[in-house]
Amino acid sequence: MAEAKMYYENDADLNLLENRTIAVLGYGSQGHAHALNLKDSGLNVIVAQRPGGNNYNKAIEDGWKPVSVAEAVKQADWVNILLPDEVQGKVWQEDIKPNIKKGAVLSFAHGFNIRFKQIIPTSDLDVIMIAPKGPGHLVRRQYEENKGVPCLIAVEQNANGKAKDLALAYAKAIGGTIGGVLETTFAEETETDLFGEQVVLCGGLVELINSGFETLVEAGYQPEIAYFECLHEVKLIVDLIFEGGFSKMNCSISDTAEYGEYVSGKRIITEDTRKEMKKILDDIRSGKFANGWLKENKDSRPFFNKERKEVSKRTIEKVGARLRSKMLWIKK
Ligand code: NAD
Ligand code: MG
Repeated sequence: MAEAKMYYENDADLNLLENRTIAVLGYGSQGHAHALNLKDSGLNVIVAQRPGGNNYNKAIEDGWKPVSVAEAVKQADWVNILLPDEVQGKVWQEDIKPNIKKGAVLSFAHGFNIRFKQIIPTSDLDVIMIAPKGPGHLVRRQYEENKGVPCLIAVEQNANGKAKDLALAYAKAIGGTIGGVLETTFAEETETDLFGEQVVLCGGLVELINSGFETLVEAGYQPEIAYFECLHEVKLIVDLIFEGGFSKMNCSISDTAEYGEYVSGKRIITEDTRKEMKKILDDIRSGKFANGWLKENKDSRPFFNKERKEVSKRTIEKVGARLRSKMLWIKK
């Protein structure tokens, strides 16, 4: 397979961002990290965050004078939308589209609203994505340590001829070119991101852990033991895979564990499971999942809230909370 091209420090020019006012909309996980990293890279930044709530207070504590979205957009040459994905379409219609300067840069950290046409930008705008592959606190902490979280960039509209260079420059300003930058498209980033979180990271993993736990408990084993075996140790295994792939993990576990992996893994993830994965991907690509999520928000999240409550009531959550309260090295 051909290797994808990676971009590093020397491939990006911060000078492209001089004399541009960058509005960061939303001071949440990504927003606070982007705003602070951009400022520390010497750039001119305005923060928009609605008053009330922890993030507004945090913005003030961090030295910003947060303004409304409309106000920030009016002043900006570059608007980065770091609001929750499910509210971006509405905020675009009401506060961004009427106020954004002609020829400005419009950017995102995730492609959802462009891919699923909740935002249809006018043709004068450069439309790009800079998506760090990590949560905001890591994006900030790595930058402070002169390191950087890898980023994806994408260009949806190159109205003014320099869209990709601008995306690279922004990635550099938040530390991304230290970790390495990879080019993608809005469609690829959105579809693979949704697939990953649904099939592997969140949907798949949570049900795998819980099903293993419940199987042991129903068979009469102590819930505390089941918790350690099916949840606690996930992190130890994932850390090994993260550091050195499956091979490093297999070198580190016992040969008995490795033999069990080969005997039983494919009995859990079967051909039927793979067929279901393809169907989930189809639902993502067709927009069925996105439409469901947008409708769920319009209806004030009846399904979402019910599921969240049910998960919180699971035995594994109660057992886990009790055991973790004595594991003093686990950060609160
Ligand atoms: P977040 O929920 O942490 O922060 C959003 C902020 O927007 C909050 O401070 C909230 O108060 C504010 N806000 C909400 N509605 C608003 C409104 N109407 N007007 C003004 N402010 C409003 O969101 P996040 O996780 O940082 O996600 C932002 C974007 O970054 C999303 O597109 C997401 O997909 C993307 N992203 C997130 C991560 C991550 O790790 N969290 C990683 C990569 C990309
Ligand atoms: Mg994701």
